[in-house]
Amino acid sequence: MFTKKSSDKKNLKFGISVIPENSKLSIEKNIELVKKSGLDHLEIAFVNGLYLSEKRAYEINYAAAVYKISLSIHAPYFINLSSPKKDIVEKSKELLLNVGRFARTMGAEGIVFHSGFYYDSPKKTYEKIKKNIEEIKKSFEDEFLSVKLSPETMGKKKEFGDLEEIISLSQEVKGIFPCIDFAHIHARTKRFNSYEEFNKIFKKLEKRLGIEYIKNMHIHISGIEYNGEGERYHLNLLDSDFKFDEWVEAINDYGIEGIVVVESPEPIPDAIRLKKLYYDKP
Ligand SMILES: [Zn+2]
Repeated sequence: MFTKKSSDKKNLKFGISVIPENSKLSIEKNIELVKKSGLDHLEIAFVNGLYLSEKRAYEINYAAAVYKISLSIHAPYFINLSSPKKDIVEKSKELLLNVGRFARTMGAEGIVFHSGFYYDSPKKTYEKIKKNIEEIKKSFEDEFLSVKLSPETMGKKKEFGDLEEIISLSQEVKGIFPCIDFAHIHARTKRFNSYEEFNKIFKKLEKRLGIEYIKNMHIHISGIEYNGEGERYHLNLLDSDFKFDEWVEAINDYGIEGIVVVESPEPIPDAIRLKKLYYDKP
């Protein structure tokens, strides 16, 4: 058995991810819905592009403050820091910087992004992405942007970002914190779907990134459909093979803290389900 590392106080927020143009509700109404559902966090997924005026960003900031809902942003899927096309990499860097500026205006605490694909050997891809993330981090510092930058663990084998790569990036580039997507890790490896295996991930994260990280995690979770290539698409938890009860147990026993963003097709019932399971545990 693993010893419980947290104090008695539970400190894990649960929220959902929303793609604004796929939602019938405005971002403010989504914030209100998150609050009314008893949840804590909204990740605004600008995955198809950042099309927002500064005025709108301030309005969202205000709504989040009124409802006491924390925010994060998912950066556009366009971002690709390993592309052989130089202009795509440059545009990606500019776009991430712009997302950073909007995140600050909106009061969002972090940005999640997909790093790129393997156009080259994993090692060369890693070095290229690392160099580009270092440059982005520098541009954030030049503008005093303290928004957290989080490369995500990816679900398809052709995508850069297995657990090891994302941890190494976060170890090597100061100020980078991983977004750990448990559905993606499961889809990519066909493993990591049990209490013991979830614990292995937490232990690895603690060993490599320190207690500060596991007390301030950014997590994605959902059910997932996968094949030999990894992720196919997200599912609701009950329609998937993901052992979310064991996952909640492991999270609770290890004393993980931070934010859990549910990315199921119907995220609210799943987020409520996970939060309830978590708070029902002693
Ligand atoms: Zn993502």
